[in-house]
Amino acid sequence: MKIFFERILLSTGWAHNKTVAIENGVITAIESGFVEGAEKVDGTAIPGMINCHSHAFQRAFAGFSEIKHENGDSFWSWRDVMYKFLKQLSTDDIGIIAQHLYIEMLKAGYTRVAEFHYLHFGKDNTPQSSAVNMAKTIFEAGNAAGIGLTLLPVLYQFSGFGEKAPLANQQRFIHSVDDFNALVTECFEYSQTYENTNVGIAPHSLRAVNKSSLICAVEHVRALDPMAPIHIHIAEQQKEVDDCLTFYGKRPVEWLFDNITVDENWCLIHATHINEFEQHAIIEHGAVAGICPTTEANLGDGIFPATEFVSRGGKFAIGSDSHISVSPIEELRWFEYTQRLIKQQRAVLATSDQPSVGQFLWNEALAGGQKVTTPNIGSIAVGMQADIVVLNNNQLAEYASSDEFVLDSLIFAAKANMVKDVMVNGRWVIKDTHHQNEHQVTQKFVSLLASLTH
Ligand SMILES: [Zn+2]
Repeated sequence: MKIFFERILLSTGWAHNKTVAIENGVITAIESGFVEGAEKVDGTAIPGMINCHSHAFQRAFAGFSEIKHENGDSFWSWRDVMYKFLKQLSTDDIGIIAQHLYIEMLKAGYTRVAEFHYLHFGKDNTPQSSAVNMAKTIFEAGNAAGIGLTLLPVLYQFSGFGEKAPLANQQRFIHSVDDFNALVTECFEYSQTYENTNVGIAPHSLRAVNKSSLICAVEHVRALDPMAPIHIHIAEQQKEVDDCLTFYGKRPVEWLFDNITVDENWCLIHATHINEFEQHAIIEHGAVAGICPTTEANLGDGIFPATEFVSRGGKFAIGSDSHISVSPIEELRWFEYTQRLIKQQRAVLATSDQPSVGQFLWNEALAGGQKVTTPNIGSIAVGMQADIVVLNNNQLAEYASSDEFVLDSLIFAAKANMVKDVMVNGRWVIKDTHHQNEHQVTQKFVSLLASLTH
């Protein structure tokens, strides 16, 4: 298959009038000019974005938790409400929510998602509600939508530091480490039967796993794949840092680096509350900070010290986490704007090599996201998977639209979604802003939503 693009952001920079040849989902050649037989695509092509952090089921809850309560509202009170909500969800319900969400992601410009998958069991004790079935449901939702999927089964054992017994409403998350490792092995096998998927693990957080299980799970997955992505919620809330200090005498990131070999395939989700020492440790080891700006704002988590981290060469990726927003543009805009508000400066997250904030953010979020999902994605170049988003040139023309301003206009100025077409793994999944299953899946999602108590 050959596709001709008028304008395209290659790994080497902007280019015009290029024909991209694709075989088995991979870019095999990029030639100048129109090559006979190529499909002509109007628009501006950029690499698809990687979403490094998703809890798919939480999308069905977005918008239902913005009510003020008399006793105060925090991450922890939000979590209680979320736990009550998820009690109602069956394995099939999760499949509908995930497929609907993944279509939303594609339409917004995400071409891969890392699913931090902790809702393992169905709501009854039937074999159909097993953890394996739930994992298959997520794989199937990803394939039905056509998004690339990195499944991260979550090890969840305790409700707090010191091996506190899980709460009643956490039972559907809980595994022994042996059962968890068996599930991970099965997921590796199943992922071979699905298209464009891979598997890593996610120890939920330092409060939810103990040291021996953490080491055991990491060793197990690394024996299956030495570069398997490993994600962990690390320092989202100040209370988590305080509890970690009380129990371990160390802050979470500090403890992690003292006790485990952390490398560039580790993603530290919500590395929000870190001190200078911890920041240097993350950068030195090449680990990626997984930042979810809209969820972190929505939950009142705090602000990641991005200015210092990025200026020192730290790597980051973006995620939509609770899916209060499903838009890479909004995540990247908030990532920059929170820094501007703190620093009382402009154009903070950019460098002299790449002074366009928008282009810097888009490329860097991909470079970080690729390290913690799967290797051959994140840029448009020969040998890379063809994950391409095409922006609508008519919409772009309403803003500064010459090459150097495209991503700034997209991220900071656009009043509407400019994503027109999306290709994943060499296949068009969004054409003229539509997905072939969107009507049917939206109907199912809407009826499900109407049947749930929020
Ligand atoms: Zn999360």
